[in-house]
Amino acid sequence: MRTVYVNGEYLPETEATVSIFDRGFLMADAVYEVTSVLGGKLIDFAGHLARLERSLNELDIKKPVAFEDLLDIHRELVRVNEIGDGLVYLQVTRGSDGDRDFIFPDAETTEPTLVLFTQAKPGLADDPVAKKGIRVISIEDIRWGRRDIKTVQLLYPSMGKMMAKKAGCDDAWMVEDGHVTEGTSNNAYIVKGNKIITRQLSNEILHGITRAAVLRFASEAQMEVEERAFTIDEAKAADEAFVTSASNFVMPVVEIDGVALSDGVPGRIVKRLREIYLDESLKAAL
Ligand code: PMP
Repeated sequence: MRTVYVNGEYLPETEATVSIFDRGFLMADAVYEVTSVLGGKLIDFAGHLARLERSLNELDIKKPVAFEDLLDIHRELVRVNEIGDGLVYLQVTRGSDGDRDFIFPDAETTEPTLVLFTQAKPGLADDPVAKKGIRVISIEDIRWGRRDIKTVQLLYPSMGKMMAKKAGCDDAWMVEDGHVTEGTSNNAYIVKGNKIITRQLSNEILHGITRAAVLRFASEAQMEVEERAFTIDEAKAADEAFVTSASNFVMPVVEIDGVALSDGVPGRIVKRLREIYLDESLKAAL
């Protein structure tokens, strides 16, 4: 049985509880982070911590603990749960003042809720799916306008993954005003020749931690990067496509709305980027 962390305590998962009045539960008034673990070490931890701080600030949610303590909590959970490869999920909610109300409770008297748990994923970096690539469908993006804040409002992304599953595919790319915003749980990219194209940062997409690292490594490797929106038609005509996220790193996309890219197998640039990302992030892992 897993040991999880709730508000200062390490407990067996069956003994960990949160109030039914918690605003995370009632109103999705909560933010989260997912950090991957490879060989027992945390990947891109500083980036995830910085984004957590930004999400909390944007929503005026108090820090649940001193941020210096978060690394220790992550490490302790990885240690006690003997995670070699896997994920650490962290969620902060605005907490509960013991009732339901739209108005935020007084931050002076209401403590935020902090929950962390691990998920074991042996062989995470050698995922066989990455050798084949994934197939995506396009769907309309009907999410709210602050997708840069990593909230737990994941109903539409879940529905998107179900639509993909029903269509016999692996995931969905969301489209707004004719342009791809991002994947349901990842950032989206196309490759044309030597150029990597991905949507620019704004409130329309999550500022992926993996995205930031991959674009940095791509530039260092003399690859050309263009940050702009692209259409599904442009994507279907691209040489390669891929997505990035903390849990899947760099994942090739080999089909979009039934159209095969790069002969339906992962292309040269995406394979190289995945290798570089894994090598470089492992070197910097904590
Ligand atoms: N976009 C969305 C909508 C996501 O949910 C995620 C993963 N949480 C990402 C992008 C990728 O972000 P990261 O690389 O920080 O995991």
